[in-house]
This record gives sequence, structure tokens and C-alpha cells, in this order.
Amino acid sequence: MISPYPKTAHEFMSLTWAQIEPFYQELADRPIDASTVSAWLADWTHLSRLVYETYERLYVAITVNTADSDAEQRYNAFLDGIRPASQAADQKLKEKLLSSGLRPQGFEVALRNMKAEAELFCQENLPLLSEDTKLGAEYAKIVGAQTVEWQGEEVTLTQLSLVYLEPDREVRQHAWRMASDRWLADREAINAVWVKLLGVRRQLAANAGLPDYRAYRWRQLLRFDYTPDDCRQFHRAIEQVAVPAARRLNEKRRRQLGVETLRPWDLDVDPLGRLPLKPFKTIAELKEKTAAIFHRVDPQLGEYFEILRRENLLDLDNRKNKAPGGYCTDFPIAGRPIIFANSVGVHDDVQTVLHEGGHAFHFFECFRIPYFQQSYAPTEFMEVASMGMELLGSPYLTRQEGGFYSAKEAARARIEHLETSIRFWPYMAVVDAFQHWVYENPQAAANPANCDARWDDLWERFMPGVDWSGLEQERMTGWHRKLHIHEVPFYYVEYGLALLGAAQVWRRALSDQAGAVAAYRRALALGNTVTLPELFAAAGARFAFDEGTLGEAVALMERTIDSLERL
Ligand SMILES: [Zn+2]
Repeated sequence: MISPYPKTAHEFMSLTWAQIEPFYQELADRPIDASTVSAWLADWTHLSRLVYETYERLYVAITVNTADSDAEQRYNAFLDGIRPASQAADQKLKEKLLSSGLRPQGFEVALRNMKAEAELFCQENLPLLSEDTKLGAEYAKIVGAQTVEWQGEEVTLTQLSLVYLEPDREVRQHAWRMASDRWLADREAINAVWVKLLGVRRQLAANAGLPDYRAYRWRQLLRFDYTPDDCRQFHRAIEQVAVPAARRLNEKRRRQLGVETLRPWDLDVDPLGRLPLKPFKTIAELKEKTAAIFHRVDPQLGEYFEILRRENLLDLDNRKNKAPGGYCTDFPIAGRPIIFANSVGVHDDVQTVLHEGGHAFHFFECFRIPYFQQSYAPTEFMEVASMGMELLGSPYLTRQEGGFYSAKEAARARIEHLETSIRFWPYMAVVDAFQHWVYENPQAAANPANCDARWDDLWERFMPGVDWSGLEQERMTGWHRKLHIHEVPFYYVEYGLALLGAAQVWRRALSDQAGAVAAYRRALALGNTVTLPELFAAAGARFAFDEGTLGEAVALMERTIDSLERL
């Protein structure tokens, strides 16, 4: 008889692997049949949630205070001492369930994923997977070391990119060229890592008995509900409807800026020369007003956000010794999500809280799902929750609705958001189509010059309206500057598909707010119990790749921009 499970992650956190291992062992030894499987799954779920929540809490601890060396030590100890062992033990339980032949209700998708993972597993690939991660880290290291001297100070290229907001065109151009030169200085180094990465990825696929790395990655990413052909259809749809819309946006921007041609350093600056929006002065105000927006979207969602506010689960300020970026994660044993951000008083901060708020609501809706393995929807739908909330919240940005802005300022924020959304699809298509070409033509792609040429062709096809003359080297090496291509191959189209789902949820909300939000919440609450097309359908959307669906979304965005511009 083993001791009972710890009730909370706090209790669990102090255990060593030697103390945790018996829990897994007992589950591995316990016989299961149709009458006992649900109790077994419940225990496995509790254990999985303890491990998951422990990791998430340790991760949160190192991000809220990067100078906390105790936290860092605990985090690393978990990564070394507990995580790999618990993953291996977990894999055994998955295999046990698969080989039992039992098919618990609501477990179809979970079983499908487990089966794919078990099939893809192969011993010879373990060192190659580590090699792939290491090469990815090598790329990250090259990029992370990129700094330039700007006005007497050493700055990162991310810091430098703020200069692209400068009204003075010469200053913007100067900064842009400095950043590009810095990238080009690493051209050979990035190419060298790339060639090694392709070799490793080819071998991964071959070891798994698959024709190419795309087929391997497709299974690894558990993409059962769409194919490379669907992606190709999506690219064509983007070319037909999003590219012309982006071209119109570029032409408008060119006119507003009063320039002969739009250059790459003209794309971020406010085209009307206005100062940046300043939505709030204090974090309390940020919380207060986003809470008001969520309440307007839906009273229950507003309540969820109040819980986060009350229980100190919103870490939104920017301070020394805090990791960069923003995220939302969850503590499933405690039944609470947490939102992390670095707010400095700009509109992006508002957008981030709306986005992460959508993820938080998704977690809230899923805490009721009985089993861990059913709880987390795939990214393609997780991002519908977050991007959908950005759009659902947008009508309430005005002070009149409890938000931050005058009607004119809110219109400006919404126009920028919608324009960014329309522009995202063509760029996403370049990144995705490029990778399809790479892994369909691994031999050609092993010569970086061919990759440059291919990227250039795709850029021509999807990204018109910007004058790159004299910047040919900069343009063709654009694939160096997209980390996903190097570190998380093929992971990107998810965002394009989710954006199209989010746009459909928003479209319905314009005529039926209550119905749209109710469907959105019902879909969120399904977790990972149904397929992607079913998740989208539950949210009142189609999981779609076609010109018709995308065309409607783009047209609605353009119409909305038009009417906001007339305010
Ligand atoms: Zn997100």
C-alpha cells in the first residue's frame, strides 16, 4: 500500500523522484478493466496534474524574478531530476492504456494522440532530437548575441526596432540598415547551422520510416485534421484575397506618409504622425479597465477575471529582474490560471491582456474536464480562444464602455489591430510555403543559396507594395530572421488558421453577441475531447482553408477599418 497522493502542488514540490516514482509504479502495476479504468484514469490524472502544476509553478517563479537563484535551482533540479523520469513513466502508462484495448468515453482524441506518439517513438532518434534542440539553441545564441551601437549605447535589435516608430524617416532608415547589416554579418554562421539542421531532420524522418521530415513533423505535431494540401489551398486563398487587401493597405500607407515608394523602414511608424496611444498610467487602471471590457463581453468571463485580480494571479507590471514577454499558464490542481506580462503603458499591453485573458478563460472552462489527457486543446484552437477575445473585446475599448480611449483613439487602436491581422496572413504564407518547399526538396534546400532564391520568389508572390530596391541581400535572407523556421519547424500556420477561426467568432458576435459568446465558451469547455473541425464548429466557425471563408473575413476586416476611419 502506498501513501496517498499529495493534495496540492505545494506538498508535491518537496518530493524527490524516489518518493514520486512509487505513484507511477503503482499505476503501472494496477490491473485495469472496463469497470476500474475510470478510477485508474482519475488517479493518473491527479498525478499528471501534480507534476504539471509543479513544473508550471517553478517556471512562473523563475520568470517573475530572474534574480531568484533558489527558484532557478529548484527549476533546474526539476528539469534534471524529475521531468525526464516522469515523462518516461508517463509513456509507460500511455502504452498500458493503449495495449489494454479499453476505449473510455471522450478519450478518442487522447487515444489517437497517444497512439501516434507511441508509433513515432524510436530509440535511435533520441540523440538526434537532442541534436536538433542543440542546433536550435545554437541559432538562438547567434541571434541573441546580436547587438549594435546606437547613440553611443549597445542595444539589442529588439530595442533598436523601437526606432522604426520614429517620425524622422532618415533616422528610421539608419536604424533599419544597422539591424540588417548586423544580420548579414551572421549570414554564414546561420547558414552553417541550417545545413546541419537539415541533415538531422532528414535522418529523423528516415529512422522513423517516413518519406520526409514534413511527414515526420506532421505526426509529431499531431496534425490529423489537415494535410499539406490543405495548407497549399490556404496559401492560394491568401494569395487571392489577403494579398490584394495588404496591397491596398500599403498603398494607403504610402499616400498617408506622402512618400514616393514604401520602403521596409516605413511599415511601423504611425502614418499620420500621431504620438503613441497612452491607454493607462497605472497597473491598477489596466486591470480595472480590462476587467470592465471582459464584463461587457460576458458576465461570467468578467467574473473569471475578477478571480485572477482578487487572488493576485495577474503579474502585469514591467520591473527589474522579470523575464520578458507575456504568457498565460494554469495550475490545474488549484484550478487557477495566471497571466504574466510586461506592461509599460502602451496599447500593446492592453492587447496582451485581452489575448492572455482568452487563454485564461479557456483554462477556466476546462478545469471541469475529468481527465488530464482530455484537457488541453491543440494550438490551432487555443489561439482561437485568445485571438477571438482580442476581437470580441475590441468594441469596448472606449471610455464610454468602461475601456481606455476616446472614440477616435479606440478607432485608431482597432484599425491598427485589424491591419496587422490582414498583413499577418501573407507573411504567414511565406513562412509556411517556404518550409513546405524546403522539406519537399531537401537536397536543393541544403544549399542556402537556393533557400535565398526560394524565399525571394515567395516574397514577391505574397508581399507586394514595398520597395526593396538596393536591398536584395536583405530581402532574400528573410528566412534567417524567422526563428520558427530554425527552432520549431512548421509551427506557424496554426496562427493563420486560428486567426481565421477568431474572425468568424467575431463576425457572428456583430449580429448576435450573446449567441456567439455562448458558442465560444461551449467550444472552450470541450478541451481536447473532440477534433479540430468539431472544436471550430462548436465555436460557430469553420475549420477552413478556402478562399470563400478567408475572403469573408478579410472583407469584414476591411469594411470595419473603413467605417472606423470615418469616425
Ligand atoms: Zn496565445
